[in-house]
Amino acid sequence: MIRVLEARFVTTAVEPKGYPMGTMPEVAFVGRSNVGKSSMINTLTARKKLVRVSNTPGRTRTLNFFEVDLGLGRRETRETIRLADLPGYGFAKVAKTEKAGWELMITRYLNERAPLKVVVSIVDAEVGATPDDMRMLGFLQEAPPQILVAATKLDRLPKAKRKPALHKMADDLGVPREAVLGFSSTEKFGLEELWASLVNVLLPRES
Ligand code: GDP
Repeated sequence: MIRVLEARFVTTAVEPKGYPMGTMPEVAFVGRSNVGKSSMINTLTARKKLVRVSNTPGRTRTLNFFEVDLGLGRRETRETIRLADLPGYGFAKVAKTEKAGWELMITRYLNERAPLKVVVSIVDAEVGATPDDMRMLGFLQEAPPQILVAATKLDRLPKAKRKPALHKMADDLGVPREAVLGFSSTEKFGLEELWASLVNVLLPRES
């Protein structure tokens, strides 16, 4: 059993010198602007406003770090992990210079962040994998952290279409089918499976 005991904002950073210190295992969340990333992090941490859900796409332009205390197993052994919320990509209206800054910030983080063990790539289940998502996955596949794909807004698809959509997404993105997990922030499903997969990588001794 995995239970979220507490979640808190730690800091915002752009450059490596601003990243929080320490060796706590870390998971990063990436996805297209407006994909439902803030909603997913709030749902996962059982907090309504840990991350602001915004209807203005492309607003977060920094790396935002959080800490989450988890209670694991029947005795609820307390373990703390870190969570990094990366700015959304694929927002057409950003200027070229800003885009270059974004890319540098992200590539540096993904390549240099030692405690980063796993990246959750969030894709819209209804839309499917976009060219931007495919590009991001290709990029992630070159970096060391493990990759999980979370297909969010799955509630928007009729039940019979969900599994085929997840399989197609895995094939489009070139990841194993078991690496794609269905999720819904509005209907709150997929949380347990995602947490279990994350704990598996972040805290292998505990799972
Ligand atoms: P972000 O820009 O990626 O952080 O996306 P947000 O979390 O702000 O969500 C963007 C929009 O999608 C908001 O209007 C949310 O209410 C909606 N949304 C987010 N997650 C879900 C979901 O699981 N199901 C449905 N139906 N809508 C969602």
